[in-house]
Amino acid sequence: MSEKQEIVTIDGPSGVGKSTLSRRVAAVLGYTYLDTGAMYRAVALFFKRRQIDLEDDQAVRSALSALNIRLFPPAKEDGDVGVLVNGEDVSHAVRTPELGMLASRVSAIPAVRARLTAMQQAIGRCGKIVAEGRDTGTVVFPAAAWKFYLDADPRERARRREAQLRAAGQEVDAEELLRQTLKRDRDDQERTLAPLKKASDATSIDTTCLDIEAVCATILERIQG
Ligand code: C5P
Repeated sequence: MSEKQEIVTIDGPSGVGKSTLSRRVAAVLGYTYLDTGAMYRAVALFFKRRQIDLEDDQAVRSALSALNIRLFPPAKEDGDVGVLVNGEDVSHAVRTPELGMLASRVSAIPAVRARLTAMQQAIGRCGKIVAEGRDTGTVVFPAAAWKFYLDADPRERARRREAQLRAAGQEVDAEELLRQTLKRDRDDQERTLAPLKKASDATSIDTTCLDIEAVCATILERIQG
């Protein structure tokens, strides 16, 4: 069997608690936290601003070649990772539900996935990381030493997302958020390229009735033995 990489992957649908958990696990282990969703959101924002036709492969490729994404550590301990797009700080702009939906659309484009997967793998070669996303255990880091797949009831996930957005000062329509959550799940699971699914060697955790501390403890116990 090939050698395992010192990488933790945490995948699952939206609102399942991946970001908070990944940040905490990374902090305890002293690993770098890699938010792959933030990268898809950055591409979505860039394409939106440039009014790129997502069906136009040439336009997509040319826009990608003009795009530079950088992630930087959150300002607050429990905050979201910061995002620079061609040097501009778009950290807040990428965190809206609309950008989440658009990120889901751009994430099905092969050229986008190829570019971001390569970037993520390059980051993984530079040191120990905790990567969160949809395909980090299946496609990006198949040789990761520790893989987790989180899931939770959609209503509970939409409720958590609502609380998160309200805490960030955003207006939220709860029913619309649930509808978007279900659509995003379905689209992410049904796309042909790197769909959202559990890696065969990942540990599944249902977080519906668990708080962050309990899930974090389960993950750390598994890693640290
Ligand atoms: O995790 P987050 O909500 O920021 O992700 C936004 C969207 O980016 C997801 O709905 C998914 O379509 C896409 N994504 C992906 N692969 C990843 C991370 C995110 O396709 N590894």
